Amino acid sequence: MPSEQHTNIKVAVRVRPYNVRELEQKQRSIIKVMDRSALLFDPDEEDDEFFFQGAKQPYRDITKRMNKKLTMEFDRVFDIDNSNQDLFEECTAPLVDAVLNGYNCSVFVYGATGAGKTFTMLGSEAHPGLTYLTMQDLFDKIQAQSDVRKFDVGVSYLEVYNEHVMNLLTKSGPLKLREDNNGVVVSGLCLTPIYSAEELLRMLMLGNSHRTQHPTDANAESSRSHAIFQVHIRITERKTDTKRTVKLSMIDLAGSERAASTKGIGVRFKEGASINKSLLALGNCINKLADGLKHIPYRDSNLTRILKDSLGGNCRTLMVANVSMSSLTYEDTYNTLKYASRAKKIRTTLKQNVLKSKMPTEFYVKKIDEVVAENERLKERNKALEAKATQLERAGNSGFDPLELKTWYSKIDAVYAAARQLQEHVLGMRSKIKNINYRQTLKKELEEFRKLMCVDQRVCQEDFRRFANYMSTLTSQMEKYKEELPSWLSKMEIAYQDLESLKREVNKSKAYQILIVYVKYKDLELQLTKQNIFNNHVNAINQELVENLDLMRKSFRTACEVLNQTYDRLEDGQKLTPEIEAVFERLLRKMRFADSEANTKMAEMNPLAVPVALRSSAQEEEEPTCSLTASAKKRQRQAAQSDDDLHLSMEDFDSQDTESDSEELHRTFKRPRNLNETQVLGPCSSSSSSSTSSSSSARKALTATVTKPRTVQQRLVSDLISDQNVRGGNEKIKKAKFFC
Ligand code: ADP
Ligand code: MG
Repeated sequence: MPSEQHTNIKVAVRVRPYNVRELEQKQRSIIKVMDRSALLFDPDEEDDEFFFQGAKQPYRDITKRMNKKLTMEFDRVFDIDNSNQDLFEECTAPLVDAVLNGYNCSVFVYGATGAGKTFTMLGSEAHPGLTYLTMQDLFDKIQAQSDVRKFDVGVSYLEVYNEHVMNLLTKSGPLKLREDNNGVVVSGLCLTPIYSAEELLRMLMLGNSHRTQHPTDANAESSRSHAIFQVHIRITERKTDTKRTVKLSMIDLAGSERAASTKGIGVRFKEGASINKSLLALGNCINKLADGLKHIPYRDSNLTRILKDSLGGNCRTLMVANVSMSSLTYEDTYNTLKYASRAKKIRTTLKQNVLKSKMPTEFYVKKIDEVVAENERLKERNKALEAKATQLERAGNSGFDPLELKTWYSKIDAVYAAARQLQEHVLGMRSKIKNINYRQTLKKELEEFRKLMCVDQRVCQEDFRRFANYMSTLTSQMEKYKEELPSWLSKMEIAYQDLESLKREVNKSKAYQILIVYVKYKDLELQLTKQNIFNNHVNAINQELVENLDLMRKSFRTACEVLNQTYDRLEDGQKLTPEIEAVFERLLRKMRFADSEANTKMAEMNPLAVPVALRSSAQEEEEPTCSLTASAKKRQRQAAQSDDDLHLSMEDFDSQDTESDSEELHRTFKRPRNLNETQVLGPCSSSSSSSTSSSSSARKALTATVTKPRTVQQRLVSDLISDQNVRGGNEKIKKAKFFC
């Protein structure tokens, strides 16, 4: 009987990318994949080349200890960008050949809950797992050999949960285990015949729906159940009628975190620990197999009993240790890696499953044929690999593999396009909210202004009703946007996270040097889109302001005319009191920009100052420069220069901070121009340049255009153009939630 000393267990480590929770929690990577078979556990923190939105992303070593910097070797290390297809091609495709050559094979996925076991074993429709890919390959190969061999394939899908064995395909159990001449038998288990991989997929779905909990739920229940999928194949050689039965087992193990918490893998599992008896027993068996001991305690649990012929001994085994690269799973990852390196030591004797043939000579002839055939297959495989190597080499000489680059480019494009779209949506929404808010602020100011002027109460009430309706329409529009915003924000957050993980992938890719340039270009493009949206926002805000200022300006002009006329009448009727004169003087002083320094400062902050867009039209109508003092003129020149700076910072635009609204308003129009530049006191060229010149020359210049004579009270004088509207109005607007 042929036998060979063979390393029949292969251990692969698969590192999964960060999940959303890990990304949110600011942690670091504790695994650095060095090459195809080595990784560095707990490396020193490195500087990340990538910055997100211009800021380095902080992370925190929550483990707060010295880095272990352990280099570990395995048969294969799969990094975060390796797919299930990669794992299949390199690890389980060779097992299919082995199965068809009569060796029992088993594939285990091991790791803590959430480490990616089910993703690897079962996968999803978009990323089919090892079970599906392996079975598809098995059926292809069965088909190819059907002329010379007959195959009977039956499958079982069991669950071991709390030591109860359940049949997932029939949703029955618990089933008893018994031992007979053929080994351990699951009582009452009928194999389900199966003819195609598609059929299998349906069966797996059915089986999974019967699991104690859905396997991908990272909850206490599913993490304690083992799912054992087994394919039993009876191979009959058509020529010789030689029969053999082989078994391929694929086991999605329970989460290892509980076993680890009872004092560690790599040492000895504690006998009798009740948390997960089966997983502990499996660890014990593997440890004993690793030590080369004769007695292996398969009987300690139902899982190891069922897998007796799939572990060590007469079996080829693949162990995929799943780990996360996040420091949040430090202990679990460390324990899993220790466990995996321990398992790698297992060496056992491998023998083929052969049922005795009536014709031994023919059997040996057949055996030689098989060996020759396998040799041929290996040669073919070798050739294919060589061709691939040459191709890679050529690609390496000419720079990079164009095909690979193309794939990268489309991937990068897709991730950035998604981020851009969401960014546009979110920023557009914020812009709308801020615009509405600003419009409301301005309209309120106007409304107050209007109320002051109102004579007819009924008209006034009607106007107010219209105003209130308009405001509530604006409010409901704004509320709608505000309601929708959070969900779009979280979508955008996810898109940004996708960007980050893409950058990490790029960082590790072979074509890094080329791709990094492309990624930077895409970053700039994204930034540019943002800038454009921002510019549109500023334009829209400016438009609001221009329209409202126009109204204000006209009203103010009329008010001044009325005021002047009233003043004249009072003077003519000798009813001018010193108080009225004082108010009038004060007003004129302000308008000439000749008030105190404090007043000037206040005026500089005046948001009613005209932005650049309005300036030209205002200046066309009125040129008030004549009455400015030298220092005022200088300030005006400075202000004119700073008009070019007119902008809102991007941060302000992005942020949702409402606290600093008035600040923002101020910043919106840096060093705004003084009210004097645009106020409409008329042809002041006739007035003296002295700030204390008599009021009459200015007054004379005003033309009375009010047609409907009405009583203009002191209130109008003091309220309309008083501090309340010049200074107070300023404060009000500043306080208004300009940017929500
Ligand atoms: P386990 O079965 O070990 O508890 P899962 O396979 O359910 O863990 O994985 C947890 C989550 O992580 C799932 O949402 C899964 O889709 C995701 N995941 C796991 N491995 C990968 C991977 N290699 N690439 C992308 N996502 C993964
Ligand atoms: Mg799972």
